[in-house]
Amino acid sequence: TLPNLPLFRALQNHDPASLAVEHSSSSRAFTYGSLVADVSRVQRDLELHAAKTAGNLAGERVAFLAENSYDYVVTLLAIFASDAIALPLSPAFPVSELQYILDNSQAKLLLATEKYAEKATQIVNAGLKREPLLDIRRKIHAGANPEPVELEDMNQSSSGGMMLYTSGTTNRPKGVLIPNSALAAQASSLISAWNYSPQDRLLHLLPLHHIHGVVNVIVAPIVAGSSIEFMYPFNPEQVWRRLAASFPSAASTPKPQVTFLTAVPTIYTRLMSTFPSLPPEIQTAARKAISPEHLRLNISGSAALPTPTKAAWKDLSNGNVLLERFGMTEVGMAISCGLDFCDRVDGSVGWPLPGVEARLVDTDTDEVIPETQERDSSGRLREGEIQLRGPSIFHSYWANEAATRESFVADSHGGSWFRTGDVATRRVVDGAGSGSSGEWAKGPMYFISGRKSVDIIKTAGEKISALEVERELLSLPQVAEAAVVGLPSEQWGQKVAAVLVLRADAATSGRNGRAWGPMDMRRALKDRLASYKIPQEMKVLDSIPRNAMGKVNKKALLKEVFGV
Ligand code: ATP
Ligand code: MG
Repeated sequence: TLPNLPLFRALQNHDPASLAVEHSSSSRAFTYGSLVADVSRVQRDLELHAAKTAGNLAGERVAFLAENSYDYVVTLLAIFASDAIALPLSPAFPVSELQYILDNSQAKLLLATEKYAEKATQIVNAGLKREPLLDIRRKIHAGANPEPVELEDMNQSSSGGMMLYTSGTTNRPKGVLIPNSALAAQASSLISAWNYSPQDRLLHLLPLHHIHGVVNVIVAPIVAGSSIEFMYPFNPEQVWRRLAASFPSAASTPKPQVTFLTAVPTIYTRLMSTFPSLPPEIQTAARKAISPEHLRLNISGSAALPTPTKAAWKDLSNGNVLLERFGMTEVGMAISCGLDFCDRVDGSVGWPLPGVEARLVDTDTDEVIPETQERDSSGRLREGEIQLRGPSIFHSYWANEAATRESFVADSHGGSWFRTGDVATRRVVDGAGSGSSGEWAKGPMYFISGRKSVDIIKTAGEKISALEVERELLSLPQVAEAAVVGLPSEQWGQKVAAVLVLRADAATSGRNGRAWGPMDMRRALKDRLASYKIPQEMKVLDSIPRNAMGKVNKKALLKEVFGV
């Protein structure tokens, strides 16, 4: 019996013969019928095991190590079904990092697929600060005969859910508790905005210990009855070949079309930089596969989408426009552009998603910025912290009351607003938000300026958005990657510095055929940015270090590159 939660009600209503999960690399494919049967079998196993050893699992953290696969999906759902809190771990993390997470989360069980049984043993043997974990190294045997499963008409109030650690971009990762009710709200919001359907096939290219890969590419499609195809780790050439396989030139059987792709900006840039090296027939087929007629939705998020990347993708795909959205571990997806191409405005992340309420709070005065007063007296757009409210928002950080307290502001109805720490401006854009993307997609659009803690640079009383400067830098032909930071300055408080990765031809594209340098950068930005926003310093690197989600840890970068 599965609990009577929205996720499991939806799961049971799908055609049991329709495809739930497939592995690109092999011919393994699993229907919704087998998913339901396997989830309830593993749930039973888990509960039996727990009854003998760990006791009741309700509300307890159950950690697991699994590759991107059907087994991952079964484990995740079985933990939800046991009313426990699913804590997916990254198999790529070193043992010490995993130990930190297991200690910090006080996980009661650690599960591992066969592939990671060894790693699980290492973690346990290395000694955990708290009481030793039960290492049951349970293998998930998929493919049992589907048996009829009933919904248990019991708990509407569940103590289960998911726990994910934030990306750790600004600090040590924080454990975020996402109750089942919030997960359900996140999924239904996305399904109504992005129209997931049983006709959709999603190509899954992301790690599975961050919200993006879990909610957008597993939970939401499963609630909607879509098909998920796993292809991980990300290999751009293989992705192109897979996409192209839907339009084979020879008489081979075409692979089903991918209709839905959601990824981080670096995945799109890496796909495009690999494209020219593909054989011509693969190029032709792949371009067809990503055209708007076949790939109905291509989404970018987790970090700012550079405008040149968006333009290049549009060109390559014969007109497909990347849809940008804004989300966080704590809230799921919160703000998104719309399905209509006109509703995907460069540099904007769109409108608050259905069920999500957003407001901007002036970072200097703490005053809520009214929608009618987006500009200050000198006509400049006002920067405000994005605050969010609604059923999809998390309730607390794990074992970190101080962080929880600092993150919420009480509203006047006994509820609260979550302070995202991200700063944005907001404005109405002509021609966007006609409502054809849905009722929610109208009014002023949000433009992310960056994180309050590292991206808002204060110089001589002016505030500069690092993201705005990065956008301009990335539009220069010499610049491949850019990260803008604020350096301490006695004279100005802070000064703007750019860390850049240059393209090969930058070696000779400076003045008089010399290497392109700081002077050239400043000259190129003169007509694009106010003078106080132009970086005073420039450092060139071979690559900018990024985490698995393509994010730059600017505090670490400041230390590494500038020693501050
Ligand atoms: P930590 O909280 O540990 O420092 P993190 O904030 O990077 O790490 P996540 O929850 O994975 O952890 O990321 C959420 C953040 O990602 C947002 O707060 C925002 O700064 C950034 N982000 C997400 N989508 C976008 C986007 N479209 N444009 C710019 N930034 C984005
Ligand atoms: Mg964060």
